[in-house]
Amino acid sequence: MKFDLAAKSMVMIVTLITSMTSFFSSQPGYRGRLAPSLTGYLHLGHARTFWTAYQRAMTAGGTLVMRVEDLDPERSRAEYSEAALEDLRWLGIRWQEGPEIGGPCAPYEQSKRRTIYLEAWQKLLKGGFLFPCRCSRKDLEAALSAPHEDNSQTNAEHDPLDDEPVYPGTCRQFQDAPSQPDGFNWRFRVPDGEVIEFEDLNLGPQQFIAGRDFGDFVVWRRDGVPSYQLACVADDAAMKITEVVRGEDLLKSTARQILLYRALQLEIPDWFHCSLVTDSNGFRLAKRHDALSLRALRQRGVTPMEIFQGNALF
Ligand SMILES: [Zn+2]
Repeated sequence: MKFDLAAKSMVMIVTLITSMTSFFSSQPGYRGRLAPSLTGYLHLGHARTFWTAYQRAMTAGGTLVMRVEDLDPERSRAEYSEAALEDLRWLGIRWQEGPEIGGPCAPYEQSKRRTIYLEAWQKLLKGGFLFPCRCSRKDLEAALSAPHEDNSQTNAEHDPLDDEPVYPGTCRQFQDAPSQPDGFNWRFRVPDGEVIEFEDLNLGPQQFIAGRDFGDFVVWRRDGVPSYQLACVADDAAMKITEVVRGEDLLKSTARQILLYRALQLEIPDWFHCSLVTDSNGFRLAKRHDALSLRALRQRGVTPMEIFQGNALF
């Protein structure tokens, strides 16, 4: 009962503040989204990001969409999906469209949206942006013998291809075009040397150099699963998302995704990347920090209020 009271009073305070601020900054067209990736339980880092997304949507007087990212058949489990929605509700976060509510952009589970991703793949292929890559993981490791950027901490809970090393270009010359994507890693050919710039509403101006900070990235995996980059862009566009709020570990993905928006001739949303929650050693939270999952904290009697005040951190 203690949690419920704390959650309610927090929601009341936030509602009061946001109703005051939304009078001045109402953007009825605002559409934000919560997009938990369902490969584990949500932890404190997610709580901060999703709470920020919730607050920004409320302040704007807009709509918040819940989209569950359950594309990876090996790592996504139904229990994580239910747990994620329940943990976020426990925190006091509310959304207006989602898998359990429905809405104009249904379905809200990525595993049910394959047709949309396939259309995006076809459009990219027709535009000449893609090539099929036959390199095995071993080939890539051999080609990239030099150690690249230190992202060992950030890889843990995303598709390992999200922050893939710069591609050496081995298969770039392939021109053959099968009519179905499955069976190859399909890569997006990036414009080498081009500076991709964007304004982040939280972190300020950002820039990445295509071909140096990131290379030809995978949009469709050989196991038949669209990549995070492709699915995310196709969905955010189809769901008419106007602002993407997510962790700063995805800044480089944003640069890649801007290239996809351009190639697909879609309107680019605003970006707001949240700084990451780190543990006492400065490492970002990942699945190995099971003790800091929202589930575990809740079982230990931590309240949503304590989570937002930072008392639950360490
Ligand atoms: Zn290749």
